[in-house]
Order: sequence, then C-alpha cells, then structure tokens
Amino acid sequence: MLDQFGREIDYLRLSVTERCNLRCIYCREGNDCFTAENELSAKEISRIVEQMVALGVRKVRVTGGEPLVRSDLEQIVADIARHPEVADLCMTTNAQGLENRVADLRCAGLGRLNISLDSLCKERYSKMTRGGHLGDVLGGIDAALACGMGLIKVNTVLVRGENDSEIGDFIRLAKEYPIDVRFIELMPIGRLGEDGTRRIPSAEVLEAYPELRPVAPRSPCQPSEDFAGEGFRGRVGFISPVSHKFCGVCNRVRLTSDGHLRMCLGDNAETDLRPALERSDEMLFETIREAVWKKPRGHHFETLFHSLRAMNRIGG
Ligand code: SAM
Repeated sequence: MLDQFGREIDYLRLSVTERCNLRCIYCREGNDCFTAENELSAKEISRIVEQMVALGVRKVRVTGGEPLVRSDLEQIVADIARHPEVADLCMTTNAQGLENRVADLRCAGLGRLNISLDSLCKERYSKMTRGGHLGDVLGGIDAALACGMGLIKVNTVLVRGENDSEIGDFIRLAKEYPIDVRFIELMPIGRLGEDGTRRIPSAEVLEAYPELRPVAPRSPCQPSEDFAGEGFRGRVGFISPVSHKFCGVCNRVRLTSDGHLRMCLGDNAETDLRPALERSDEMLFETIREAVWKKPRGHHFETLFHSLRAMNRIGG
C-alpha cells in the first residue's frame, strides 16, 4: 500500500505486548508496571494481520515489550506464517527464556531473530538491563543456530559511559561468528535518550576502526549501513535514525499491543483500530488503508520531540 508521499509500505512491526521481563536503562523508567489487560488477543492480531497482508504487507516483525512473555506467542507466529505472502517473518527479542522455545517458534514458522544484547560482560549486562542474564542470551543464540533459524542479528544500543568500552568486542563477534552486529543509535525516546550527550554517532566508531569497509546492503530498504573487515563471517551495521535520517525510504508501520497503528516511531500520531475491529473486516481494511496513507514524511527527532509512549509501549 502507498502513503501520501509515494512510499510503498510493506513492513509491519507487530508489538504483541507492552510487558517486558527486563527494564533496560534507556527504555523503561521508574517503577512502571504493565499488565496484559489491554492486549489484543491472538485472534484479534490474526484478523489485523490478515487485512494488512491483503493491503500488501510482506514482512512482519514480532516485537514488544518482550514477545516471549506471551504464552500464546507460538500461536500468533503460526497464524502469521499461514500467509504465504509474508516472505519474511522475524522477531526481536531479549532472548531471556528463548532457549527452550526457539525450536517450537521455528516450527511455527518464525524465520529469523534479532537479539538485543548491550554487553558481553555479565555484570554490565545485568546492570544495563536491570536484572537480565547474559547466559540466557548466549544459550538462546546457540539454540537458534542449532535449530536452523536464519541469519541472526545482534542489536546493540551504544550508550556513552556504559558499554562504549566494548565496541571492539562486539566487532570481534561479527568477525568470528556468522552473526550481524548492528549498533543502534540511542534514540530520544525515554529520558536517557533525550540526553544527546549519551549518543555515539557511527562516524566516531568508524574512525576508531578503519578496518571496517562498506559492503552492499542485504536489502534495499534496510535501515542499517553495513560494513565488514577482512575475513569477517558476519557484518557490522549502523542504524542511525538521528544522525542519518532514512525516512525517505521508510517502508514500515507499527501496531501497538493495545491496537493502535503508529505510522512513525518519531511522531505521536496513532489510529485506534479497536472500533473497526468491533465492526467488520471491511472496516478494518479501510481504516488501515486511510491511516497508512497519512504516514508523516519523517520523524521529529531533530526537534524537541517527546514520545507519548515509551519504547516498550510502541514496539521498538
Ligand atoms: N524486548 C525486545 C528486545 O529487547 O529486543 C523487543 C522490544 S525492544 C523495545 C526493541 C529494541 O528497541 C531493542 O533492541 C532495544 O534495545 C531498542 N530500544 C529501546 N529503547 C531504545 C532507545 N531509546 N534508543 C534506541 N533503541 C532503543
């Protein structure tokens, strides 16, 4: 489906919950507490996905919150996988508890995983995630590789003064394993990200690691700029929405777990799909089409943007 600026929108980021088993320092603040009360059911998600596919969605990423906290995640994945039009079905996860479920998710039709990992040091990982277990992430990655999951991407949010001393270790991961490591620029969503001094631009990393050379993108609309060095088994990517805006080629929209379609991470406009869900599939189709048409030209991160939802409530 097309938006008002002629962009083809074929990528849905589907948040299945706001709940998360971690409390990453840049994502969740204070003592916020989320329940399953307002979450769309698996059936409602399936109905929305069906209309999105009819409108041209060809890639679905399951995200959250933490998708693994939903006990019916395998069902949600299987419902999406039954659409042959969805060529790419993937999930973003913190991998806590992934090890025991990854084979079932693979069987349900999940094709690929992005795994969030901000430190390779046990203590720092626990500190940055406020309680996460590094061993769970590494066990999850091993299990994913063992059950034939497609390309694994590790997402690392660089935060000055927290994990910047580990940049070289993450680059080594891409050298030694068939894994892509992507450094994500800290976005001004949440208090830590709104403090620009903690953001580390890609140029700074590339200057420190001149052995990294640009390589061709894996796909035309990918947000990352990819690099590799001599003999690397994986790649090092930079996703830099603040310093390198890629809105002109943005092909995505987000569905929040409480049923709102959000057209842009850096713009607070949303459309509530629940009234249409309650009426009919035809109404749902029209409501989605109209909402997507109005997708804004670009995000507002360069102004004093303040997101009305934290990242775990949008679906990062
Ligand atoms: N719980 C899952 C996970 O950790 O991958 C999925 C949801 S999480 C919100 C998705 C991604 O958003 C994670 O990679 C996380 O690091 C990233 N993220 C959250 N807040 C961010 C921020 N302010 N700036 C950049 N990335 C952020």
